[in-house]
Amino acid sequence: MNFSARTSLRFAAQLDVAIVGAGIVGAACALECVESGLSCCLIEPDVVGGGATAAGMGHIVVMDDSEAQFQLTQYSASLWHELAPRLPADCEYLPCGTLWVAADAEEMEEVHRKQAFYRERGVRASVLDEQQLAGAEPNLRRGLAGGLLVPDDFAVYAPCVARYLVEAAGATGRLQFVAKRTRSLADGAVTFEDGEALTAGVVVNATGAAARHFVPGLDIQPRKGHLLITDRYPGFVQHQIIELGYLKSAHSISSDSVAFNVQPRRTGQILIGSSRQYGVEDPMIDGAMLARMLRRAIEYMPELSTCSGIRAWTGFRAATPDKLPMIGMAPGYSRVYIASGHEGLGITTALGTAKLLVDRILKRHSAIPAEPYRVDRSMVAHG
Ligand SMILES: Cc1cc2nc3c(=O)[nH]c(=O)nc-3n(C[C@H](O)[C@H](O)[C@H](O)COP(=O)(O)OP(=O)(O)OC[C@H]3O[C@@H](n4cnc5c(N)ncnc54)[C@H](O)[C@@H]3O)c2cc1C
Repeated sequence: MNFSARTSLRFAAQLDVAIVGAGIVGAACALECVESGLSCCLIEPDVVGGGATAAGMGHIVVMDDSEAQFQLTQYSASLWHELAPRLPADCEYLPCGTLWVAADAEEMEEVHRKQAFYRERGVRASVLDEQQLAGAEPNLRRGLAGGLLVPDDFAVYAPCVARYLVEAAGATGRLQFVAKRTRSLADGAVTFEDGEALTAGVVVNATGAAARHFVPGLDIQPRKGHLLITDRYPGFVQHQIIELGYLKSAHSISSDSVAFNVQPRRTGQILIGSSRQYGVEDPMIDGAMLARMLRRAIEYMPELSTCSGIRAWTGFRAATPDKLPMIGMAPGYSRVYIASGHEGLGITTALGTAKLLVDRILKRHSAIPAEPYRVDRSMVAHG
């Protein structure tokens, strides 16, 4: 990296922004801050992009759960399309599209609903029948009803993107990096585990699933997920393929679930997901959950049973009750902002999050309405 970690916390001038956490969200916020002329300090005791960002699939996907989710994912995807030509090769940009798979007639109805939703909002999407689906992905099992191809979605290797964003921010000369673990946050102040502290105009809590530890009452819960990556099988899978049942899995906010979700990697490897578990904070691999996830994948793609898995891991999504991230001022504070709660879409929405966050800090107009992501929305809703 072309920026150096600070050993002393004396800065030449008052810092505008101190960002805690250098996952993809903190990294994107840091770049947006310095590109907007703010001086910024990024605080991360571990590897940049080494948290949920390294555990995720890196699927950049426009979603339609709600109008607010659509707006943030579409806005972010447009920012990703601008960024993509600048990304170094190790970010593994792969324009694979998304293929949503319908198992039966009921899910085919969902394919048509989804296509209409996307089309009305200018997102390209085409319906595939059974034969077209088999032609697009010959390793899917026969007898599936069809699918929806969304060609402009893509995949990246997110930890390298996070590193690239931090390097790009460092190159402006307005970013400082502090390799310390944060103990607590207050208005315009960060205190570290070693007792040292720094002050800044505002503080941003971008610590992902850990965000609730620094701001009391923040309704963000860890949601555990497993992934497995195989050896190299170039051409085995062409698209990011997801069963439409995934939506049921992602919607459940209390029970454990698995869904078929595979991604081709530039290396020829296949990334297989995914699981969702609530109320578990142990990062160890849960053998039963991993087996359940792989059985689901093999149901959809029987030949996967002949592929060698070389590594499995877990990560924690930062889940909110309404499945939307929290972007803005923390309730009860005047100089602490939150950028967390992105659940399974934080890689997709990191760039839009950074824009909305810095818009809030600088009191700028935003390209999309920021209200749905207000941190105090549950309090607003409950009067
Ligand atoms: C299995 C799985 C699959 C996923 N797939 C996708 C996908 O395909 N597409 C997508 O868009 N999203 C996906 N996600 C979600 C995505 O990975 C996350 O939403 C995103 O990475 C969150 O980024 P973040 O920067 O908020 O958090 P993190 O990457 O967790 O970063 C938080 C950072 O804060 C730091 N931190 C924590 N505590 C402290 C402290 N005390 N002091 C200083 N720093 C601290 C951590 O070290 C960490 O680096 C997936 C997640 C999982 C688990």
